[in-house]
Amino acid sequence: MLITHDTRCALDTVVDLVNSVPEDDTAPDGLPDVAALQEFVGTHEISDVGVLGEPDLAAVLRIRGRFAAVFAAPDARAAAQLINDLVAAAGTTPRLTDHDGYDWHIHYFAPGASVADHLAADCGMALAFFVVAGEQERLRRCEAPDCRRAFVDLSRNRSRRYCDSRTCGNRLHVAAYRARRKEAAG
Ligand SMILES: [Zn+2]
Ligand SMILES: [Zn+2]
Repeated sequence: MLITHDTRCALDTVVDLVNSVPEDDTAPDGLPDVAALQEFVGTHEISDVGVLGEPDLAAVLRIRGRFAAVFAAPDARAAAQLINDLVAAAGTTPRLTDHDGYDWHIHYFAPGASVADHLAADCGMALAFFVVAGEQERLRRCEAPDCRRAFVDLSRNRSRRYCDSRTCGNRLHVAAYRARRKEAAG
């Protein structure tokens, strides 16, 4: 599966967007206000987006929930339906570009699109290609019981189970090791 620079950026963006949802009622929201959204847009180098307002935040939070559903979709058909709805509502204008020295790739967002439509179009299409490639399973949730963050498994054999193996994977290994020692000692 060919993953171009822009697809990679769109994937990183959509994963960060989905993971800004608070994990429970006590956790803070990753996108609490317009300033946080403006910072998100800057960090992820989302181009052609001007000054943002409350309507932008409301629209982004709406599509955030729908992207979260894509990562929780049980199969390709369910994911396809969700992605189709997201992309259709955003409106797209596919066009080839080789801006900033990158190889030819396609931008999907319409010129002048709002930030929510921009994200829905380009991140939606990045996810669409996983369904096309028969790789929808790579859009995952971390298997650590207290985590469930979204991630995209880009490993060769689709073997990644945790959002960040250095934290979640390790924490589980340590817990399993302690449990084994306890059993051996007991
Ligand atoms: Zn680009
Ligand atoms: Zn995790």
